[in-house]
Amino acid sequence: MAFRKEEKLSAELAQELLTTTRQVSPFPGVDAGPPKTLFETKQCLHCQGVHSRKCPSVSSIEYYNDGAVKHVTYFPHGSWPEDQVIWLEDVYDALPNEENL
Ligand SMILES: [Zn+2]
Repeated sequence: MAFRKEEKLSAELAQELLTTTRQVSPFPGVDAGPPKTLFETKQCLHCQGVHSRKCPSVSSIEYYNDGAVKHVTYFPHGSWPEDQVIWLEDVYDALPNEENL
């Protein structure tokens, strides 16, 4: 899925992003946790939005040899293209107006 702000988020996609699905247990006997919306499962750990490519807020990530994250550097607030990210409020804004249903 490619997310661009210029293409207005459709009401259909907004509803899909808020659809709740049951989570799958990672191991037998391990609680899968509460159901999550598609938005929550796609949500970026760094900017809390949803985007299709690398997080635009991240400048660099340094890793340990085992692949664990050692250090993350972010671009200063206001200096990265936030229009590449779908925010939760964008999703709610794109929902059909209940008066139109
Ligand atoms: Zn992000």
